[in-house]
Amino acid sequence: MSIKTDIIIIGGGHAGCEAALAAARLGCEALLITMSLDTVAQMSCNPAIGGLAKGQLVREIDALGGAMALATDATGIQFRILNSSKGAAVQSPRAQADKWDYQHWMKHYLEKAPRVSLLQDRVIEIVAEGGAVVGVRTAIGLEIPCQAVVVCTGTFPRGKTHIGSHQAEGGRFGEPAAREISGSLEKLGLPLLRLKTGTCPRVKAGSIDFSHLTIQHGDEKPQPFSFLTNDLQVEQLPCHTTHTTGQTHAIVRAVLKDAPLFSGQIQGVGPRYCPSFELKLVRFPDKERHLIHIEPEGRHTEEMYLNGLATSLDTETQEKMLRSIPGLEESVITRYGYAVEYDAINSRALRDTLEVKTVERLYCAGQMNGTSGYEEAAAQGIYAGINAALKVQSRPPFRLDRSQAYIGVLIDDLVTRGTDEPYRLFTSRAEHRLILRHDNADLRLTPLARELGLVDANRYDRVMEIKREIEEARKYLDSVFHEGKSLAMQLRNPEISWQDILAFEQQQAGEDARLGKISARAAEQIEIETRYDGYIKRQQGQIAKMAKSENVRIPDGFDYLAISGLRNEAREKLSHIRPETLGQAGNISGVSPSDLALLAVRLKRRKEK
Ligand SMILES: Cc1cc2nc3c(=O)[nH]c(=O)nc-3n(C[C@H](O)[C@H](O)[C@H](O)COP(=O)(O)OP(=O)(O)OC[C@H]3O[C@@H](n4cnc5c(N)ncnc54)[C@H](O)[C@@H]3O)c2cc1C
Repeated sequence: MSIKTDIIIIGGGHAGCEAALAAARLGCEALLITMSLDTVAQMSCNPAIGGLAKGQLVREIDALGGAMALATDATGIQFRILNSSKGAAVQSPRAQADKWDYQHWMKHYLEKAPRVSLLQDRVIEIVAEGGAVVGVRTAIGLEIPCQAVVVCTGTFPRGKTHIGSHQAEGGRFGEPAAREISGSLEKLGLPLLRLKTGTCPRVKAGSIDFSHLTIQHGDEKPQPFSFLTNDLQVEQLPCHTTHTTGQTHAIVRAVLKDAPLFSGQIQGVGPRYCPSFELKLVRFPDKERHLIHIEPEGRHTEEMYLNGLATSLDTETQEKMLRSIPGLEESVITRYGYAVEYDAINSRALRDTLEVKTVERLYCAGQMNGTSGYEEAAAQGIYAGINAALKVQSRPPFRLDRSQAYIGVLIDDLVTRGTDEPYRLFTSRAEHRLILRHDNADLRLTPLARELGLVDANRYDRVMEIKREIEEARKYLDSVFHEGKSLAMQLRNPEISWQDILAFEQQQAGEDARLGKISARAAEQIEIETRYDGYIKRQQGQIAKMAKSENVRIPDGFDYLAISGLRNEAREKLSHIRPETLGQAGNISGVSPSDLALLAVRLKRRKEK
């Protein structure tokens, strides 16, 4: 069989699915090669999508025409807006999904997508000639030529799982590792790191005593993730919470010195912000109890996920731990918690398009870039897929900066700062979070997606219609007065709600009242943007000021040694990391404002010459 394709995507996880779909939407033939077609888009860890900052990512992926939000709407079992009582900047959607339905939905979506092909096989080598990718070789002996490759191999490169002293080769428990790809990446000059992540035990629902546990319901009116989902009719399942006890902590402390994490068995660096339970005990010795969320893994299974209890302790200790937790005393484990170590690349080897700096048309996305999380993976996947396709089509690259999207924050952090531990996104990583809200992702990104050809005209027109509604309503709010103050001014008073504004207008305008007729999507944004108008304008001002200098590009091969006055640390870091813009240079730790000023002057002079 001779296979013809433009772009090969290695790995059918969350990054690989979005990469293949995006490349195909832009008109390229995309071949997704993955070790098993039965694990496409599998959620390796918790059965949930979204959450703080991650929910914003999912909305942005959707606004760019991605699939993650649609898959979540189609297979979600509980939907919530987190932080709904707090400010708009930190609210995020989150949904529990049916783990199996989700992956089946995504596989089918890929199967139906024009120009996407799926192939079950293991890539063992990425072939490059003259500094550019020319194809891949697979375990069953296929040699497939292509113009670009997107590597999305997740936790599988030289993956090794740990449960107590039991160790096995594998990217997830019970699945093989991708043994050869690490060597191929090293041969291409990519520096590798060893990272680690872990997951929680799963238990059978029928063996849990729910009677004394706290129940957690979804939102009364579930909000969809995708712009394309108009109405979410879903029967929501509840989650529950319990907590560990002093006894649980004593059980774990008694075996800590032999725990794989502390005995030297696990060498990889784990995620600081999502640590395993044994590490939480060491870091927070005075905490008397830790919260555990009990989450269903799906509608058609009894398996429950114990969120908060990630561990690689031995099986006997895991069982003892559960005996000491209220509600779980009699619980029956179906899968033990485990850790996985794997190879990742140093993300500073990548350009801000996720192309490898030293190998043309080779892109990397997802966990293998040192991140953690489905949403972070999917966001990089769509971004790398878009850029691979644009490169193949000789079109200019697509870039998002820190002021446009959380995706821009993620990419910039990765390529300029790098990471030596699994990276996850937080709202606090974004400087402009009042502007990067989940509710306005479509307005921010769909016009860009339309320009590239990622979304159709109908969707774009609907987004523009909302924009028009918002603009008109904001003018109207400025022009209608109630008790001497415009409705816009009234709305800035935290004690006055949108409902109050509707009532004032009704009083004033009677049958001509307009605000009540505005679509829910527009109304949400009108309220937020009017309420936070001052802060938003200030952030926009800062962005405009920064944009002038931030986007100044630094030419390839720029000689930092030639800038006199640059401190040695800055010279070394800049020569090593090779930022592509002045903005990126400024984000490198060790590059001071005065170093940046010197660099800016040198670039300006160069341009003038
Ligand atoms: C045990 C465990 C615990 C985790 N815990 C958390 C957590 O607590 N919080 C969190 O946010 N995230 C966690 N994650 C991470 C989360 O699963 C990943 O961030 C996410 O799945 C990454 O998506 P990805 O597409 O990059 O890779 P993956 O989802 O890992 O998918 C990679 C895909 O590539 C395929 N593949 C790999 N190599 C090859 C090859 N050479 N040829 C063909 N196919 C190949 C694999 O079969 C797989 O389908 C955990 C993961 C694991 C395994």
